[in-house]
Amino acid sequence: AAKQAGRGTFRVFDEATDFHLQSRQKMKAALRAALGKGELSVFFQPLVALLDRRVTCCEALMRWHRPGEGWVGPDQFIPVAEEAGLIGAMGRWILHEACAQAMGWPEDVSVAVNLSPHQFRSGLLVEDVISALRASGLSPHRLQLEITESVLLDPTDRNVGVLQELRKVGVKIVMDDFGTGYSSLGYLRSFPFDKIKIDRSFIRDLPDAREALAILKAVAGLGRSLDMRTTVEGVETQAQLDCSLAEGVDEAQGYLFSHPLPAEEVCAYISRSRR
Ligand code: C2E
Ligand code: MG
Ligand code: MG
Ligand code: MG
Repeated sequence: AAKQAGRGTFRVFDEATDFHLQSRQKMKAALRAALGKGELSVFFQPLVALLDRRVTCCEALMRWHRPGEGWVGPDQFIPVAEEAGLIGAMGRWILHEACAQAMGWPEDVSVAVNLSPHQFRSGLLVEDVISALRASGLSPHRLQLEITESVLLDPTDRNVGVLQELRKVGVKIVMDDFGTGYSSLGYLRSFPFDKIKIDRSFIRDLPDAREALAILKAVAGLGRSLDMRTTVEGVETQAQLDCSLAEGVDEAQGYLFSHPLPAEEVCAYISRSRR
């Protein structure tokens, strides 16, 4: 097809690809250096209990302050980090950083850290988690590990074994972005999660879309029957919050409450939520 498209078209395509590859190579190199230069930081976004509006947990979200480019979000650099083999080191770094910060919060506030499927493949994940807990002194039950359904796609079930080991360490296991996978309900049978986070795409369409509302209702009920807490993510409006409360969802996260905040600011937010 490329040949048939003629020389001109082919060149344009080639140059675009080349540009893309080059910028990706550049990003890899810059990212490799970023960790050592302290350009990575962790922001925290509060999760709020719907019944009393207190902060129950804060999710650690990685940010990269790239010189000359400003803040870069994880959707742009995590895939590059995975490709460059940097996700292990970056994941280890944020685990340590998140646990250390949480030590400065009230004892009933947990911290959530996102894990990449690559961290499961390395065989070092359990060790890394234990080491972050030891170094910080954080109680294991205050650490929540968020995984997406992609982690359970591993056909060997090896990752389920890793989840069971982590559970034995005492940390909580959370299913993130629930409802976006190929077999969302099936995944709930493979491991007893502590918490389900209903994907933002369902919340976005509330309160008007019947389908989204039906799904919210079903997942909230599922959470109750399976003894898993439920969280809605991406809550931006009061109407979305009202629906979630009406369906008996346990907690919410979203811009309506707070954007992800630098570590210094999240402490103040937590204190304010308890007054
Ligand atoms: P996630 O774990 O589902 O995190 C929630 C994302 O939704 C965050 O985007 C957050 O800023 C955004 N968000 C929160 N509330 C709202 C809202 O009300 N409206 C909208 N439109 N968005 C909201 P962020 O920080 O860009 O992170 C994107 C994804 O990158 C995360 O999705 C997570 O999968 C991944 N990620 C972030 N930090 C890490 C990390 O340290 N390690 C790994 N492996 N992945 C990470
Ligand atoms: Mg998450
Ligand atoms: Mg999510
Ligand atoms: Mg997400």
